[in-house]
Amino acid sequence: APKDYAIKPDSLAGKTILVTGAGDGIGREAAKTFAHCGATVILLGRTVKKLEAVYDEIVAAGGPEPAIVPLDMKGATKSHYQGMAATIVEQFGHLDGLLQNASLLGVLSPFEHIDHDSWNDIMQVNVTAQFMMTQALMPALKKAPHASIVFTSSGVGRQGKAFWGPYAVSKFATEGLAQVMADEYDGTNLRVNVINPGATRTTMRSKAYPAEDPNKLKTPADLMPLYVYLMADDSIGVNNQSLNAQ
Ligand code: NDP
Repeated sequence: APKDYAIKPDSLAGKTILVTGAGDGIGREAAKTFAHCGATVILLGRTVKKLEAVYDEIVAAGGPEPAIVPLDMKGATKSHYQGMAATIVEQFGHLDGLLQNASLLGVLSPFEHIDHDSWNDIMQVNVTAQFMMTQALMPALKKAPHASIVFTSSGVGRQGKAFWGPYAVSKFATEGLAQVMADEYDGTNLRVNVINPGATRTTMRSKAYPAEDPNKLKTPADLMPLYVYLMADDSIGVNNQSLNAQ
C-alpha cells in the first residue's frame, strides 16, 4: 500500500518541491524528509524563525540547500503568488512538486457561535489562498517532466462533524478543488491527489483535543511514506486519489 512505501535516500533526487506550512508539524517533517530523499525544498510559511530552523536542520544533515519563502497566506494576494512563481522558474526552471499543507483550524464551536471573521480567515487560508497559489504555479508545474500536487484534507473533509464548522467546510472544498483539477489535467504531466493525515501529534491536534495524551498519537514522521510516494516517480499515473496516511 502507498502508506507503507519504502522511502529511499534517492526517492526524490533532483526534484524541486514547495511545501506550505513548512515551519511546524507535518509540513516541517515533510520538508526535512523530502530533502533527505534528495529534493531541493522551498519552505513556505508565516513564521520566519521556524523556517530558518528547518533550513538549518536540512543543511546540517547534508541535504540540498533549501529556499525560504516567508508568506502569510491570510493576507497574500495574486501578485505575491505570481512573484513567487516567477522567482521559482528563474531559480529552478520548473517545479516538480507542490504540497499544500498549511491550514488554519480556528476555534471549534457550536454552529450558532461561528464568528464571521474567523469563517472568512479559514476559507481564505485553507481554500482561496491555495487556489491562488496553485493557479500561479501552473506554468512552473507544466514545465516539469512530471509534476505532483498534493492537497491536505481531514476526516472532517469527508464526513462533517458537530462543532468543526468552517474547518470541516474548508476541507470539503479542498477535496473538491483537488477533484476538479485532477479530472481537468488527467492524462497530462500533472497528477493531483489528496492526503488525509489522520490524528497526528502536532500543535493543531492538541488545540482540537487538549485533553488527549499526545504520546498515543502517530507522529508526523510515521506519515512520511505516503507523502514521499506521492512526490516520487513511483506514483506517476496515480491521479484523483484521496488517501489515508495512516
Ligand atoms: P500545525 O498547526 O502544526 O502546522 C501548520 C503549519 O501551517 C504551521 O507551520 C503554520 O505556520 C502554517 N500556517 C498556518 N497558517 C498559515 C498562514 N496563514 N500562512 C502560512 N502558513 C500558515 O498543523 P499540522 O501539522 O497538524 O497540520 C498540517 C495539515 O494537516 C493541515 O492542513 C491540517 O489541517 C491537516 N491535518 C492535521 C491533522 C492532525 O491530526 N494534526 C489531522 C487531519 C488533517 P506557523 O508555524 O507560523 O503557525
